[in-house]
Amino acid sequence: AKESGRSTYRFFTETMNADALERLQLENGLRQALEREEFQLHYQPQVSLSDGRIIGAEALIRWNRPEHGMVPPDRFISIAEESGLIVPIGRWVMREACRQTREWQDAGLPPITMAVNLSALQFRRDDILATVKSVLEESALAPEHLELELTESLLMENAEDVMSKLKQLKAMGVRLSIDDFGTGYSSLAYLKRLEVDRLKIDQSFVRDVPHDSEDAAIVRAVVQLGRSLRLEVIAEGVETLAHVGFLSAENCLIAQGYYYCRPVPAETFGEILSKEFLR
Ligand code: C2E
Ligand code: CA
Ligand code: CA
Ligand code: CA
Repeated sequence: AKESGRSTYRFFTETMNADALERLQLENGLRQALEREEFQLHYQPQVSLSDGRIIGAEALIRWNRPEHGMVPPDRFISIAEESGLIVPIGRWVMREACRQTREWQDAGLPPITMAVNLSALQFRRDDILATVKSVLEESALAPEHLELELTESLLMENAEDVMSKLKQLKAMGVRLSIDDFGTGYSSLAYLKRLEVDRLKIDQSFVRDVPHDSEDAAIVRAVVQLGRSLRLEVIAEGVETLAHVGFLSAENCLIAQGYYYCRPVPAETFGEILSKEFLR
């Protein structure tokens, strides 16, 4: 028994070391990724459900890690957050997304709103307002073409600070959206006071509609809540015609998901946008 106890322990520490080592290597890789220009943004269209027109895009980061290939954000965003690297990385994302949006505008493509994910750490910093301001100035993008996606949990953190920052961001003219809506616990009284423009229904609720009656009820409730509070509602994770049919019937007006388009590199997105003219 003693013997096996020891080997279990050794096995445990070895796997722990492997995990810790991998994290450390990821963190070190992340540290250099910005200056080595290993990040790339992909863009996923946000579509008007009634006519299929592209009205916006979400910028999603990709890391092309040498000798590893594409690392999905779910594998490195949390490490970037814990190490603080999300701050410079997030700043780069915002800058690049705004620059690209302006470039498409200058090329005469149909104007879109660009949604950028903001992590809690970025939002909590005092310099977030200055960062957004300077990114807009640099790119000469009109503020209403930038949308910041904030998670529900982030918004629940520190009411006074959150409220005051949202107010100042709204005063600058940028759009605000609550990402993964329904997965946190926002009180309706609080939501009413938040100056946001849009609720983004989390894809976990969309996945099994229309046949899952509970999920269907949740999606329906969020759409109605949006209408009552005069907030736009967008459904994410829209993958099938059945999803589209359900959402249209429920009067959800905007959708994003594989049914329409996967996230694509800038060049591909530009081509997709230019075809919008032919519709
Ligand atoms: P998110 O903000 O909820 O982004 C939506 C995710 O769902 C994206 O995954 C997107 O590719 C995926 N998706 C889109 N349509 C569908 C669909 O129809 N079905 C399914 N199953 N998935 C769909 P992705 O690109 O892997 O990003 C994962 C998460 O990583 C994002 O979730 C976001 O939380 C984070 N993330 C990505 N880019 C950034 C960034 O620039 N900054 C920060 N802070 N976080 C980011
Ligand atoms: Ca998002
Ligand atoms: Ca989301
Ligand atoms: Ca998510």
